[in-house]
Amino acid sequence: MDLYEYQAKELFAGHGVPVLPGEVAETSDQARAAAERFGRTVVVKAQVKTGGRGKAGGVKLAETPDEAKARADAILGMDIKGHTVHRVLVTPASDIAEEYYFSFLLDRANRTFLAMASAEGGVDIEQLAVERPEALAKVPVDPLLGVDTAKAREIVAAARFPDAVADEAAEVIVKLWDTFVGEDATLVEVNPLVRDPDDRVIALDGKVTLDDNASFRHAEHAALVDKQAEDPLEAAAKEKDLNYVKLDGQVGIIGNGAGLVMSTLDVVAYAGEEFGVRPANFLDIGGGASAEVMANGLEIILSDPDVRSVFVNVFGGITACDAVANGIVQAFRLLESRGDTVNRPIVVRLDGNNATEGRRILTEAALPGLQQVDTMDNAARVAAQLAAQGE
Ligand code: GDP
Ligand code: MN
Repeated sequence: MDLYEYQAKELFAGHGVPVLPGEVAETSDQARAAAERFGRTVVVKAQVKTGGRGKAGGVKLAETPDEAKARADAILGMDIKGHTVHRVLVTPASDIAEEYYFSFLLDRANRTFLAMASAEGGVDIEQLAVERPEALAKVPVDPLLGVDTAKAREIVAAARFPDAVADEAAEVIVKLWDTFVGEDATLVEVNPLVRDPDDRVIALDGKVTLDDNASFRHAEHAALVDKQAEDPLEAAAKEKDLNYVKLDGQVGIIGNGAGLVMSTLDVVAYAGEEFGVRPANFLDIGGGASAEVMANGLEIILSDPDVRSVFVNVFGGITACDAVANGIVQAFRLLESRGDTVNRPIVVRLDGNNATEGRRILTEAALPGLQQVDTMDNAARVAAQLAAQGE
């Protein structure tokens, strides 16, 4: 889960990383009131989960409360790289002597953590990495050893931060590491990390990605989820413990096992080229295929108005095809009892353990709109064709 700047900085503050105070405003009047409370020049900053807000006009200085209101009026509702601004952060403007770059991230290729730092911050770091790679220090961090003061000093030296801020920068880096580990983040980025005229080091911006696989360790992170921005179908699926990802196509997909579902997406995307349709989602119902899970899955997929057909692709393993077929039959009944009807064509491909028995069960049940196709490729083709006809 990516966090907003204001949320990232709240986490920073909790770990002792120096940040400036800030107030979140959803209206320009609230922004004005916040500026009034700070009683000095403020910065009004768009809160969107994308970088480059400054360049896009989403970060503005305001010298008076009235100006803060005007700035907020201009920024709220703005579109920044496809993200609509619903909130701004109002924060006292700091005097900046220098801007640095700092981040901790997971270096998957090298199976370790990585610190990246540069004395030339504030700028687009991807650009710096390409144009002047020597200005961006990359220091691997052993996950077992972590970052103590000595390691932080090594990073500071590699990045060539000025001597006047070396001690303080090292201290801040240790606290950013505490944030990274303590919050189970996969990214902590500060751009810019600034030096103020008194040589204090402050995190002026913050970008944090939390590892969702660790969310069971952080009940408190649930409050960071932005319900407003969450896809409603994905939220509903999460509530039902379904492994669902919304995509933008027309062919709904259900399968058992992540690998099978991934290859189903590929096969449907390929077959769909001819008909101008694409997969509408990823949904892995896992090993067991209870009627309830199948019904929940169908319900989520069918509540996507873009879906024109559904492809159920099951390879019977420990849960054999007859159990899956019974699950599908019961799922239809369950949906009916909930007042939902399956009103779009369903294409089922059953193979693997007890396939013959599974197919017989579905044939006998003669469920409306459901047809069986023998192979994955053919089933994908039929589902794609039905989706194209359904438009
Ligand atoms: P981003 O463009 O989305 O990364 O947003 P930032 O928070 O990094 O802000 C962009 C730029 O605005 C920074 O690099 C600073 O140069 C400037 N900026 C942000 N906050 C302040 C502030 O409090 N005072 C001053 N003088 N400049 C600021
Ligand atoms: Mn920034």
